[in-house]
Amino acid sequence: MARFYCPLPLHTGDALSLPPSAARHVQVLRLQPGGVITLFNGQGGEFEATVTRMGRSDVGVLIGAHSATEREAACAVHLLAGITANERMDWLVEKATELGAASLTPLIAERSVLKLKGERAEKKLAHWQGVAVAASEQCGRNRVTRIEPADTLAAWLAQHPATGGLRLVLSLSPDTQPLHAAVQGHTDVTLLSGPEGGLTAAEEALALAAGFMPVTLGPRVLRAETAPLAVLAALTLA
Ligand code: SAM
Repeated sequence: MARFYCPLPLHTGDALSLPPSAARHVQVLRLQPGGVITLFNGQGGEFEATVTRMGRSDVGVLIGAHSATEREAACAVHLLAGITANERMDWLVEKATELGAASLTPLIAERSVLKLKGERAEKKLAHWQGVAVAASEQCGRNRVTRIEPADTLAAWLAQHPATGGLRLVLSLSPDTQPLHAAVQGHTDVTLLSGPEGGLTAAEEALALAAGFMPVTLGPRVLRAETAPLAVLAALTLA
């Protein structure tokens, strides 16, 4: 059944017009009145809904039964990932959502090629959030990976004092413990990973001082988008 993100209060028995993005998708699928779809608003579970009206640009639905189904990972993983160039960041957002990331903060690292600021940063954020929505619709999640505003490491650390979850930094330094040894039994993990050019020594030192533990993924140097996805796969796949 087609699934759509509908960020509105949803209640069984309510009639409503779908927001523009969901309405467009319903029209592309050429659904007709009487057609049944699934709606979720990211607040928990999903609703069956019946199309009641297909207008030129608006679509009316009647909200049906709620199902409390969740398809979240047992371990909440928050990514703090160096912004990668071009479409690779879209790819990272899409795959991270499918793999169940709770949130993703695009990190403006010292060696990030793309330095986001102002209106451009807001547009990119909205774009990446849209990519995450589409990925949740496709993969069956009823939650959407929260894409946080892009930030430098120093600014992010200033706003996020350690609160008890495990903090890990993917590090290429020698004598670093393997990921699986560090994560044993943890259900809330914040993972810092570098951009294409890696984290600088100063950034890594800043992270260590803020309680991030360095971990290795082994002897091969993974691309900037592969490394956090490999960790997500290791921590979230059932
Ligand atoms: N030339 C860069 C350097 O030496 O730092 C390579 C950076 S790598 C493409 C991007 C990021 O992925 C790294 O900063 C690190 O956070 C992570 N990473 C890649 N392979 C890793 C591995 N085997 N173990 C731990 N982290 C890794």
